[in-house]
Amino acid sequence: MPDIAYVNGAYLPLADARVSILDRGFLFADGVYEVAAVIGGRLIDNEAHLSRLENSLRQLGIESPLPIQTIADVEAELVARNELNEGLVYLQITRGAAGDRDFGFPSGATPTFIAFATKKNILASSAAETGVKVLTVPDIRWARRDIKSIALLAQVLAKQAALDAGCQEAWMVDDDGFVTEGSSSTAFILTKADALVTRPNSAAILPGCTRKAVQSLAAREGLTLEERSFSVTEAYEAKEAFLTSASNLVLPVVSIDGRPIGSGAPGAKSRLLRTLYIEWATNPGAAR
Ligand code: PLP
Repeated sequence: MPDIAYVNGAYLPLADARVSILDRGFLFADGVYEVAAVIGGRLIDNEAHLSRLENSLRQLGIESPLPIQTIADVEAELVARNELNEGLVYLQITRGAAGDRDFGFPSGATPTFIAFATKKNILASSAAETGVKVLTVPDIRWARRDIKSIALLAQVLAKQAALDAGCQEAWMVDDDGFVTEGSSSTAFILTKADALVTRPNSAAILPGCTRKAVQSLAAREGLTLEERSFSVTEAYEAKEAFLTSASNLVLPVVSIDGRPIGSGAPGAKSRLLRTLYIEWATNPGAAR
């Protein structure tokens, strides 16, 4: 793992990167985060990630510790200092550390801003070749899933349930039997009528940056897009399924709850959309 991290203005070895045990991120999950992919030393779709960050901060009334462009500079600096060619940059901003463990917002606390980089093969992915298996689980999260909050316990439990079942991702399901999203990804299906379906943005899901880019690439390709909820049963019967996220781009889903999707192999449209996304992400001059 690249070992230079950022903590409140300082670049320092990861082993020396520390925050207070009174930090409200640690005590209350009172904070937000973002993850952007790095390919060829360049942050991918980072304007979208930073604009979502601004929104998450605004929703929670946390003041940004730095202007957004300066946050982008910190990310770029981390990429440079860690000589990161391919991987992820993680950043987290919390409401900061107060003198006491009080629920109400502390007066005068300075937000805590940390960031680090991780090496990861993004382009050459064995999961993209084989496709991933999905397990459905009840969505037990809070009602403001549009905020990229660091309170991820429900997603941790969902992902672990998937791993325990020999799957790689969990799709969370609301009380009416409709898929909300993956534990750390957006869920898509392609119907037998060739419509690309994903749930509309609302407080029920995180507005995925990759989701948005993939939707515009699909539209450019002439695919029919439908933004609506889809049930687990509809997903079982889909022609194809896939997930999107900054860290995995587009990954075909080959089974859900042990039922093969389509032929049980990565679908043609899922593979096409992965290729188109990679072309778009690796071509800085591309129209967005
Ligand atoms: N939904 C959830 C719950 C996530 O945690 C993520 C990514 O972490 C996504 C969707 C995908 O968002 P993005 O494409 O911006 O990475």
